[in-house]
Amino acid sequence: MGATGPKQVLREPGEATRRVRFGNVEVGGDFVVIAGPCALENQEQVDQAAHAVKSGGGHALRGGAFKPRTSPYTFQGMGEPGLKLLTEAGRRLRMPVVSEIMDAAQLPTLVEYVDVLQVGARNMQNFSLLRALSKIDRPVLLKRGFGATIDEWILAAEYLLDGGNDQVVLCERGIRSFDNTLRNTLDLAGMAYVKQKVKLPILVDPSHSTGLSWLVTPMALAAAAAGADGLLVEVHPTPETALCDGPQALTPQAFDAMMKGVGAVLAATGRRFADVKPLAAVGGVR
Ligand code: PEP
Ligand code: MN
Repeated sequence: MGATGPKQVLREPGEATRRVRFGNVEVGGDFVVIAGPCALENQEQVDQAAHAVKSGGGHALRGGAFKPRTSPYTFQGMGEPGLKLLTEAGRRLRMPVVSEIMDAAQLPTLVEYVDVLQVGARNMQNFSLLRALSKIDRPVLLKRGFGATIDEWILAAEYLLDGGNDQVVLCERGIRSFDNTLRNTLDLAGMAYVKQKVKLPILVDPSHSTGLSWLVTPMALAAAAAGADGLLVEVHPTPETALCDGPQALTPQAFDAMMKGVGAVLAATGRRFADVKPLAAVGGVR
């Protein structure tokens, strides 16, 4: 790519994966699972989802308050009241929390509530948003755009490092291909390629990449086998009533089963789930 190519995100020979810490969790070493509902809906749903994630062995809690929906007539997210529920559930269960930022104007609100700011597929090349996030001291979870090449994705991460934020975690969430049978096409080989070439930790999202809950566990196991640093996965206490992405959400029981399977794959490949560090050692969760 020459002079305009990435300068900071590439892995030097022998260089270890960058560790990115949030709360009592560290990504880039042992395997980390971030799970929770697509959208935060109400107190009961958030609490039940958080409980399911914690009891299944998840490390961090996800949930969208500002949802980038294809149609303006579908649920757009709870906004700030949802973030409050997410943060409270995370604090209670000692899990850091992750939520999506759609616009730089939401930054002051989001930093008040969340440990990690997620940039969604639709905003991967929102360069003014990336510039704004490069100026803050908070980890960013950068999802791959569904129409983005690997080079474009890597250069989007480069914007964050160039501006001064090196706390970046990548996430492969599937791309659009000629085949629309599934919601997206999971580019696992692309994930393994990026893992090799880029020093940032990388997660796989088996939920948005398939769109179907029964494909989530097999793709989660494949991601673990292929060397991902962790997963971002949707869990809902009652997927059939979900306001967003119900067909791809795991029930609490299915999440437990997925975690058992992932644990077996990790053991078979000489890896393990990350420990949750004692809060005293990391200065507490915000
Ligand atoms: C999400 O994680 O809820 C989401 C909207 O994902 P993506 O940006 O990958 O579509
Ligand atoms: Mn979703």
